[in-house]
Amino acid sequence: MIRISAGTAACLGLASNRMDAFPTTAYLLSGNQCLMKCSFCPQGVGGNGIFNRLGRVNWPEYSWDDFEKNLASAKGKGIRRICLQSVRHADGTKTLLEHIGRIKTVTDLPLSLSAWIGSINEAAALIEAGVERISVSLDVVNPDDYRRIKGGSLQNRLDLLLECAEELAGRMSTHIICGLGETEAEALTLIDRLLRADVTTALFAFVPLRGTLLEGSESPAVDSYRRIQAGVFLLLNKAAELASFKFENGRLISFGLPKKDLVRLLSGGDAFQTTGCPGCNRPYYNERPGGIIYNYHRPLNNKESEAALGELFNSL
Ligand code: SF4
Repeated sequence: MIRISAGTAACLGLASNRMDAFPTTAYLLSGNQCLMKCSFCPQGVGGNGIFNRLGRVNWPEYSWDDFEKNLASAKGKGIRRICLQSVRHADGTKTLLEHIGRIKTVTDLPLSLSAWIGSINEAAALIEAGVERISVSLDVVNPDDYRRIKGGSLQNRLDLLLECAEELAGRMSTHIICGLGETEAEALTLIDRLLRADVTTALFAFVPLRGTLLEGSESPAVDSYRRIQAGVFLLLNKAAELASFKFENGRLISFGLPKKDLVRLLSGGDAFQTTGCPGCNRPYYNERPGGIIYNYHRPLNNKESEAALGELFNSL
């Protein structure tokens, strides 16, 4: 059996739930109980045991046969990538390698993997097995918050990610969750370092999930999230440098560019779309339809783009 996100299952014809946004990546989830104890996640040790949830998304189980049959139609339905997300398994990469083997026998779509790995050798073996990109998810930006929320050392995970990026050029991604205690300066400084190392950053907004230790915490303020999104976009497109950004008590107060240049660079709304591996749009992963849209899963219309820019400029 394999867990498939509800949106992916609907897109592939495995479920008939009504969807108002379809994924451009097919999202799969490997495993149930995770060895980690991340306080924001229901999958981990100390979580609530609701194993069909990750982010805001439901992940019902399907047989591999059903998935493989329906995957044949994926390209015709706009799917451009497969993403296998995984709990940290007790058997290391054994289960993952089996899953990767099954996926690669039925599709030539590029495959991303978001999983806990312990060494460059493991990353290399997973790439050898057919993974195009691997996300070593840092999740939490501040080292003290990392230790409290995920356990262990942020520096160790960062060192491994950067070593992998050097050895396996162009293959590494990471996930960064905003709203877990970090300052905007800390988030943008880390992301700038990752960009320079050619690590693709997927930005997430923290979502408090029922039954997790952080269920009483709040999602980030939207204006703060817009400042980070805009900062990432400017850095990624080499339209500004981190050294030109100004911070006050950790909050970004200027990108060091005239407002007219910012309007020109940001008015298309691209800065506010989902970031990550090519083709990854994660519809409603962080948000509920009708609520605050942190990551737009598609190009913004003029009204949405103006609203996002308003949220940004009102706070600068
Ligand atoms: S950025 Fe998207 S496709 Fe890449 S690992 Fe993360 S969720 Fe998967």
